[in-house]
Amino acid sequence: MSAIVSMQQVTKRFGPLTVLDAVDLEVQQGEVVVLIGPSGAGKSTLLRCVNGLEGIDGGTITVDGQQLVQKGRELNSLRRRIGMVFQQFNLFPHLRVIDNITMAQRDVLGRSREEAEARARELLARVGLSEKEHAYPERLSGGQQQRVAIARALAMDPVLMLFDEPTSALDPELVGEVLQVMRDLAEEGMTMVVVTHEMRFARQVADRVVLMADGGIAEQGTPEQVLEHPTSERGRAFLAELG
Ligand code: ADP
Ligand code: MG
Repeated sequence: MSAIVSMQQVTKRFGPLTVLDAVDLEVQQGEVVVLIGPSGAGKSTLLRCVNGLEGIDGGTITVDGQQLVQKGRELNSLRRRIGMVFQQFNLFPHLRVIDNITMAQRDVLGRSREEAEARARELLARVGLSEKEHAYPERLSGGQQQRVAIARALAMDPVLMLFDEPTSALDPELVGEVLQVMRDLAEEGMTMVVVTHEMRFARQVADRVVLMADGGIAEQGTPEQVLEHPTSERGRAFLAELG
């Protein structure tokens, strides 16, 4: 196995607040890691550090064998290989679906229009939205917009996909279609780190569940271990609250 993500002793502070306190985490190629834990535990911050949206105050982060540096070209070239999907879909409202998916391919990867559109259509088919390529985001449901956002991230041929509560902003009846796309992606072997409160998804799809609390990893293991038999105080408390 080879590690796609390797975090060693990563510390992140916001002023006096230590949000990540010497965190060690490795994610292997093809592995699906689900991150859970109470609000404020540092889950989003961890993802943001892994794709370089936040600098770190200590430790090292290596992605696909390349150490993240704090600025400059190296960070940009590494970041483009990491797909990120947020709770808010963040599509460009003034661009049609197909243009949302081709823009970075053309601007960042230098693909031709034809090449970028071919890739976009392939991905739209994969997320079940072929018929929406000419639609503007506002005409799509939240679930459809999130599937477009996933397709847009995949268009960059990422080595790693990060999801930060991708279904939290969706009406309940739209959650399933987004989780299905993520499930398919996992089955195809994509390396994924997913922050989610969808415990059924965690049980079915995660290779490993990592429970964060108080700036660190309270426990980790198979979904069965962490969700059914938590051993830490924090883990028990968090899962008891979920009911
Ligand atoms: P989670 O995603 O687990 O809910 P976050 O990573 O968003 O947690 O936040 C962890 C802690 O860091 C929280 O206390 C939050 O208020 C704080 N925090 C996050 N981002 C910032 C920021 N840009 N500036 C100051 N504090 C922040
Ligand atoms: Mg968060």
